[in-house]
Amino acid sequence: MEYKEMREMEKTHVCAVCGGEPVTLWDSENDCYRLACGTDNTHNGFKRRPTATKLLARGRLDEAVGPGAQKDMEQLAKRMPERFNLLPKTDNETGVVLSPLDILALDTFAEKVGLNIYLGHVGLYFGEPRVTIDGYYYLAKKRGEDISVYALPANVDERQQYQIPDGAYFLLPRVSEVVTRCPR
Ligand SMILES: [Zn+2]
Repeated sequence: MEYKEMREMEKTHVCAVCGGEPVTLWDSENDCYRLACGTDNTHNGFKRRPTATKLLARGRLDEAVGPGAQKDMEQLAKRMPERFNLLPKTDNETGVVLSPLDILALDTFAEKVGLNIYLGHVGLYFGEPRVTIDGYYYLAKKRGEDISVYALPANVDERQQYQIPDGAYFLLPRVSEVVTRCPR
């Protein structure tokens, strides 16, 4: 990757481990520039900067925009759910279109666990209500925890539980606490 591309990626990407800002560093050992996490340069990997809707869903809007932004947008999402397209429309695994009753049941489930159906916090998986990755981020954020969500291949028991056919590739999200805290 060229120096110019790295500088571009600083604007469009964040650290995949902690969500920190990337910086372009001179790597004297290898005699070249490299893109590194500005919080901890041992972190590996970058991902696209989340959009405002995604930040809202993940409960990180206060950090990105300023204090109170999260609450304002949540209230807007409640008043005008049609403006937020994160409401689940199909079963995430089977693709079956959700009925109004399914959505009502999911809404009740979301509220019970302190989440918001309009922000994509919950979904139906094989007919079962489950918390999505955004939902986990949101809950953690509310509790003041910094978490990292990543996916690993499912084990035999989990493949059975989720009714995954033999030979199919299947990943499950795992949650871990981020040890390195991002600067606030
Ligand atoms: Zn990082």
